[in-house]
Amino acid sequence: MNRIATDVLVIGAGSAGVTAALSAARNGVSVVLLERSGFLGGISATLPWLGFHDRDYRQVVKGIAREFAEDLIVSGAAAPYSLDPKCGSAFSLNTHAYKILLMRKLEEAGVTCMMQALFVDSIREGDRVAGVWVETKSGRLRIDAQVIIDTSGDGDVAAHAGLEWQKGRTKDGLVQAPTLVFTLGGVDRAELIRACKDPALQYREWFKGHPEIHKQFTRNLDDLAAFVFGGFAELIEHARSEGGVDIPQSRIVGVKTHVEDEFTVVMTRVLGLDPTDVHSMSESFSRLYAQIPPIVQLFQGWIPGFKNAILREIAPIMGVRESRRIMGDYVVTADDVISGARFDDAVSMGGYHIDIHRPSGSWVESYNVQAYTIPYRSLMSRDAENFLMAGKCISATHEAIGSTRVIPICMGQGQAVGLAAAMAAKKGGAVRDVSIPDLQAKLIEQGAEIGESIGEPDYEAIEKYGQLPLTEEEGTTGEADPVTQGAWVNKS
Ligand SMILES: Cc1cc2nc3c(=O)[nH]c(=O)nc-3n(C[C@H](O)[C@H](O)[C@H](O)COP(=O)(O)OP(=O)(O)OC[C@H]3O[C@@H](n4cnc5c(N)ncnc54)[C@H](O)[C@@H]3O)c2cc1C
Repeated sequence: MNRIATDVLVIGAGSAGVTAALSAARNGVSVVLLERSGFLGGISATLPWLGFHDRDYRQVVKGIAREFAEDLIVSGAAAPYSLDPKCGSAFSLNTHAYKILLMRKLEEAGVTCMMQALFVDSIREGDRVAGVWVETKSGRLRIDAQVIIDTSGDGDVAAHAGLEWQKGRTKDGLVQAPTLVFTLGGVDRAELIRACKDPALQYREWFKGHPEIHKQFTRNLDDLAAFVFGGFAELIEHARSEGGVDIPQSRIVGVKTHVEDEFTVVMTRVLGLDPTDVHSMSESFSRLYAQIPPIVQLFQGWIPGFKNAILREIAPIMGVRESRRIMGDYVVTADDVISGARFDDAVSMGGYHIDIHRPSGSWVESYNVQAYTIPYRSLMSRDAENFLMAGKCISATHEAIGSTRVIPICMGQGQAVGLAAAMAAKKGGAVRDVSIPDLQAKLIEQGAEIGESIGEPDYEAIEKYGQLPLTEEEGTTGEADPVTQGAWVNKS
């Protein structure tokens, strides 16, 4: 039988998995990282990164995430952070350079990356998850590990091991709408910026309630490397009523990246997806691909700066925003995030607003937050003694995941569980026995931010870019939650 053993096994090489594997290996244990696709980074290798900073423009995610960002900036493969009143910051990068960087860093740290290797089952032995079964080109393989980290985004390993999980909204189990991201080239940046500066066009929906921030922020657009979109609703309405354009999104959603003529489009959308059901996923793929041509036509015909736009790239994976959430010793809530909770067992941080792409109806639900910590207890399964998780599948509510899910925040969690796994593996694998003060001290020593050094608000940046109030009354949430319907509803 094909059988190998490792100290730490990480399943899923997205933003959470790569940082977990790197962190564990740098702390002196053997690590195997499993990935079903042919590249590292998961969804983080398809998008700009949001949420390194909080609404006070303080950097709340540091450590390995910041190391990646700085390496990419130094090598010319990314622009410096672009500050933003809603998202804290946007970090625009060449995602291919990032994938190359990850391969190198993991190799240098001694991580065994097992590519195109699909996790298929868990091996449960009492209170432990002893190992997993993997399908590979060379056949079925068993991997045993002291500590297992589920960073599959879907909580696959936990579900197969019979550990408790939840999925979707409490009332109906529906998850956030997924998106197949694509990139347009041939964009006229100057013309687009002129449209953004026109207050009548509302290129960000939340400007409606804050015209003064529109003025303050758009003054900086010419100098900002990247900027985020979520608006132009009236232009879409015109395209629908006058041009008969049929698209699933009521706003232009995406990011003007640091590449002069490039725009990342985040507008395809399917309702009713079950990301753990192959039929639902397959049907969604076909609907998402079908939406791309009309969205491209919408841009070319109706959005300033896109007359000569061309479809440049389609992401190699579907962007699933939410799937299973593994239940831990603590479940992070929206209240924790909004109130900026500081936990005694804090191991990472976040400051990105709650951003829920509605599972039914349209547009988003959004709530601003204060810089908050993420407790170690929400990164360990309540049902197993050697099992950690990071990224989309942590122990948090549907609402809290709306904030904790962005890329830098997932990386912060990954670094924390990687270190904790290494510490536990050296002593037999019990993740609850890890000393919290030791873990926190080592995280700080290794550059992570757990709330000790975020400092004062950046008043200069607030003055320059504007600051949204914690509670916004108008302009953020768009439509209420109408009946789920339309050509983009999944029929499975
Ligand atoms: C459409 C969309 C737009 C977004 N926009 C932004 C944005 O602009 N900026 C931002 O910061 N965040 C954004 N986010 C959020 C963020 O990108 C993700 O939440 C985050 O990257 C999730 O990281 P992860 O590591 O938890 O999961 P993933 O990136 O999903 O990684 C999971 C990995 O596990 C692998 N895997 C899964 N199952 C198996 C298995 N059975 N066997 C082996 N491998 C497996 C997958 O192939 C994947 O590589 C967006 C998310 C979506 C979906």
